[in-house]
Amino acid sequence: MTVVDLRSDTVTRPTAAMREAMAHAELGDDVFGDDPTVIALQQRLAALLGKAAALFVPSGTQSNLCAMMAHCQRGDEVLVGQLAHTYRYEGGGAAVLGSIQPQPLPQQADGTLALADIEAAIKPDDPHFARTRLLCLENTWNGHVLPLDYLAQATALARKHGLGTHLDGARLFNAAVATAGPGGDALDAARRITAGFDTVSVCLSKGLGAPIGSVLCGSGELIARAHRVRKMLGGGMRQVGLLAAAGLHALDHHVARLADDHARASKLAAGLAGLPGLRVRSVNTNIVFVDVDGELGPALLAHLKAQGVLATGLIGLRFVTHLDVDDAGIDRAIAAVRSFFDSDNAANPVTQPSGPY
Ligand SMILES: *Cc1c(COP(=O)(O)O)cnc(C)c1O
Repeated sequence: MTVVDLRSDTVTRPTAAMREAMAHAELGDDVFGDDPTVIALQQRLAALLGKAAALFVPSGTQSNLCAMMAHCQRGDEVLVGQLAHTYRYEGGGAAVLGSIQPQPLPQQADGTLALADIEAAIKPDDPHFARTRLLCLENTWNGHVLPLDYLAQATALARKHGLGTHLDGARLFNAAVATAGPGGDALDAARRITAGFDTVSVCLSKGLGAPIGSVLCGSGELIARAHRVRKMLGGGMRQVGLLAAAGLHALDHHVARLADDHARASKLAAGLAGLPGLRVRSVNTNIVFVDVDGELGPALLAHLKAQGVLATGLIGLRFVTHLDVDDAGIDRAIAAVRSFFDSDNAANPVTQPSGPY
């Protein structure tokens, strides 16, 4: 039985064509700055987003940390969402390694931070306070696309107060494809989404389907500082054009097709709507969140796993569509959830832990 793995869009395997591109990549030593494929990837993404420079890094976590440490000094403060990846899911790296104080702000249901909350959190220049230095936003956030006019307002507000701006765009191209709409220009949308930000981090290893890697884009000065931080964090890699080649291939072949992932997520959401005890949240891109009544979550996950369908979640469930899930996989996932409710599982949940989630 093949597994339908909807835990994350990070689980994709490189396609045969991507492996071919990797096998033929021209290589150098990127710590010496002479790996031509890394240089090409960095220049490509910087140009695409209208930034002066870019830096290839092993992970999104390291990319965000390099950015925050490039913007901030010891004792500076970053305004960030209470549920943002940079605040919640990166081991507290900015505080631990950067001596940067996070000021978490309430995350609105659509992933935005209220402009009034941002403004109210900016500290006056007074030795009692950390120096508010940076605004960090995330797009997509939990699969939600932040509106372009909101991004323009939030970055303008930050600039007015002398703050830097960073976008955690781990799934930037999902946001871009959704923002552009059917037949729209996703690359132009990516440029418009990132226009107001000083730095932008993009993951190649999620929906784009590369095995490893993120790229941080920004001004020459900020990227030069980030480069120093990357070295300090052990992120200087050698013949890493092997991986950059996968990223270039992904940019060539895997951006427009994100629309397929979005359509499959919508199809999955529609297929799960109306089942007893489940509430499907609105879907913008490739992530489907389902709130589950009471104790059903672990039993449902265990049932799905036994049917060869993997998802994550403790109270709610999360399904993420990607390159390695086709229409038949979505049908199987829907059928597997429905079969849980057809049997008497739902009435008598056997709560077996099926973790780690
Ligand atoms: C996955 C993710 C990251 C971190 O990327 P890793 O490569 O897993 O370190 C950062 N931000 C967001 C929004 C993400 O989804």
